[in-house]
Amino acid sequence: MSVRKTGAEHIQSLRDGRTVYLDGKLVGDVTEHAAFRNAVHSAAALYDFQARPENLELMTFLPEGSNARVNRGWQMPRSYEEMVLRRKALQAWAALSYGFLGRSPDHVASALVGQRMGIDVFRRRSPDRAKALADYFDYASKNDLFLTYVIINPQSERAKDWGEQKEDLVARIVDEDSAGMTIRGAKMLGTSSIMANEVLVANLQPLRPGEEDLAFSCALPMNAKGLRVLSRKSYEASAVSIFDNPLASRFDENDALMYFDEVKIPWERVFVYKDPDLCRAQFHDTQGHAYQNYQAQIRLSVKIKFLVGLARRITEAIGTTEIPSVREQLGTLAAQASMVEAMLSGMEASGAHVGEWWVPNKHFMYSAQVLTQDLYPRLVNVVRELAGGALIMLPSSFRDFADPQLNQIIAKTQRSASMEPEQKVKFLKAAWDAIGSEFGSRHTQYEMFYAGARFVTAGHSFRTYDWKSATGLIDDLLASYQLQDELTPSRH
Ligand SMILES: Cc1cc2nc3c(=O)[nH]c(=O)nc-3n(C[C@H](O)[C@H](O)[C@H](O)COP(=O)(O)OP(=O)(O)OC[C@H]3O[C@@H](n4cnc5c(N)ncnc54)[C@H](O)[C@@H]3O)c2cc1C
Repeated sequence: MSVRKTGAEHIQSLRDGRTVYLDGKLVGDVTEHAAFRNAVHSAAALYDFQARPENLELMTFLPEGSNARVNRGWQMPRSYEEMVLRRKALQAWAALSYGFLGRSPDHVASALVGQRMGIDVFRRRSPDRAKALADYFDYASKNDLFLTYVIINPQSERAKDWGEQKEDLVARIVDEDSAGMTIRGAKMLGTSSIMANEVLVANLQPLRPGEEDLAFSCALPMNAKGLRVLSRKSYEASAVSIFDNPLASRFDENDALMYFDEVKIPWERVFVYKDPDLCRAQFHDTQGHAYQNYQAQIRLSVKIKFLVGLARRITEAIGTTEIPSVREQLGTLAAQASMVEAMLSGMEASGAHVGEWWVPNKHFMYSAQVLTQDLYPRLVNVVRELAGGALIMLPSSFRDFADPQLNQIIAKTQRSASMEPEQKVKFLKAAWDAIGSEFGSRHTQYEMFYAGARFVTAGHSFRTYDWKSATGLIDDLLASYQLQDELTPSRH
């Protein structure tokens, strides 16, 4: 049985005339441009990995009614066992980028898996919109598309409602006819959009009645007429070499503002139309939000393990591993990495059937989100603390090794408890790229915010916790003694 997609096919699919801007210029071909080409190849490598015969069973499954296998990210698990199989595939993909491709194709696939599970939520409001979503899921999954999403409005005046922002800021419906609707305005922040095939547009942030023009969801190809992609600074472009920036040079997935300049969307690609409550329901009454964030925790479990491994190697490089206080710090990091993995297992094992589908335990997932967005910057800080100046006392670039005189000095000054000088420099540059470079710093911001600011994630945790059970324990305690009993003389 063949697999749907190879890396070469994915690269070819990105040569579609999309409108991407960088440094004031229109980027011709993202697959060739120095700012994006390595990240594009890293994405392509994901498809090549799953297409290898020995990985087919681990990584792919055969959708019903299809003749080609696609990534398990598109699989809708019917049982706990299927969920675990799916997770193993997602973890194997995440390991290829050490967890640094936050928006690998399985992320938005997971969001759509959850939304497709809840198709009745759409059917109850509009059979046409439900059909559009079901057809789109079928099309995207069977073709193993790489999707990005923009579901958040651009930050502007946070004290105002979205509908009160200046015109052309937040994407809104500005026209419609028998063929479709036209949208104008912006959304943040299309991570991986430069190397995705299509974009899902939606509203995760609450909208009010009266904001109907903003209340839509749709999907469109990245080369849609009028879609302008404004890339942030490329870290890949300024990564000197793989030796100096092994992560930034290959896994800079990019983030971009998307401006919809009168973009026409055909009705068969419109999933929510002028319905503020369905915008919320698309994520929260279906399993969409649960599945997309469950995927994020799967990926993060790999990245946290990577960072903890990095911490251990740093202490080996500078010879501090056996110092009791350092061992204590490493032990704490190890406990935190295992906590992330255990929460993952917990949300799977204590999941439940919703209809025919097995879904993760929502509160456990939200707890993991709150705890890990706090954990990530703390963990990075501990790694910095363990490292000291070693992360900075490094040759300016790999070129220093080519000069015999400098090479000699490097050999003398980069001695280590456990590594040869060249190996030590190689490792410490990788470590700095992960936690301190501009790329590494963006990752801290990503882990703190990709799922929403703290007040949002903590709000989900508050909303989904079993407070009745927790407060019931207090009620039981208080019911177990009475003031009147204490006042009864016979008690004393
Ligand atoms: C690297 C990166 C990649 C991203 N990729 C994507 C993507 O691919 N697709 C996508 O759709 N989005 C993406 N995002 C956007 C992300 O989802 C948002 O950044 C996140 O939801 C937070 O929203 P915000 O940035 O508007 O921050 P805000 O919600 O404005 O919060 C910022 C801060 O303001 C304060 N604040 C604001 N409002 C309140 C309030 N009501 N109560 C209390 N405090 C408040 C808090 O201090 C908060 O931490 C990405 C973000 C980052 C950083």
